Amino acid sequence: MRLLIFGPPGAGKGTQSLIISKHYSIPHISTGDLFREHIQNNTQLGIEAKRYSEAGELVPDVVTNEMVRTRLLQADTAHGFLLDGFPRTPSQAEALNVMMPDGTHIHAVLNMIVPEEELLKRLSTRGRQDDELETIRRRLRIYHDTTEPLAEYYRGKGILLDIIGVGTIEDITKQIIDGVESLR
Ligand code: AMP
Repeated sequence: MRLLIFGPPGAGKGTQSLIISKHYSIPHISTGDLFREHIQNNTQLGIEAKRYSEAGELVPDVVTNEMVRTRLLQADTAHGFLLDGFPRTPSQAEALNVMMPDGTHIHAVLNMIVPEEELLKRLSTRGRQDDELETIRRRLRIYHDTTEPLAEYYRGKGILLDIIGVGTIEDITKQIIDGVESLR
């Protein structure tokens, strides 16, 4: 099972990703988490990524694509993965197409939809370093301008599942699993 999850910051991608990756026994690969790990460990990649992520901007595609390509070569992805936070730009989507092993495809793209008012409310209480109001607004704008159109690219392929990301965690999980099963 190969899944992507899309959604603006605060949409609940992290929460649902943990549940869904467990449900399908696939690794949860979050580019945000990978970057935060690199930043914490002060790696070359982390040093490069830090100024972008702190400013709420996207890390350049070449850096991000290479990090994901390396991760997808690891053995635990052989039977699938849930990619969280990637691709976020058209060029990343193209890169992902090239990275996919022969004979494999993306089964479904989960498009988490949450009203902006609700997102601002959730993010202002989360307390992460990049959750300052001005940074939040920038991340929401970048999501709207750059990543949302990408969701439409996957809708065109017939694999986009719109998930209403408001309600109980269980309800949202059920929407996701029902949707994924309907595409199998
Ligand atoms: P997230 O936890 O997904 O909100 O990601 C946190 C930060 O990591 C983002 O604001 C970006 O700076 C960076 N990041 C995560 N995923 C990507 C990506 N696919 N492309 C570029 N930058 C990314």
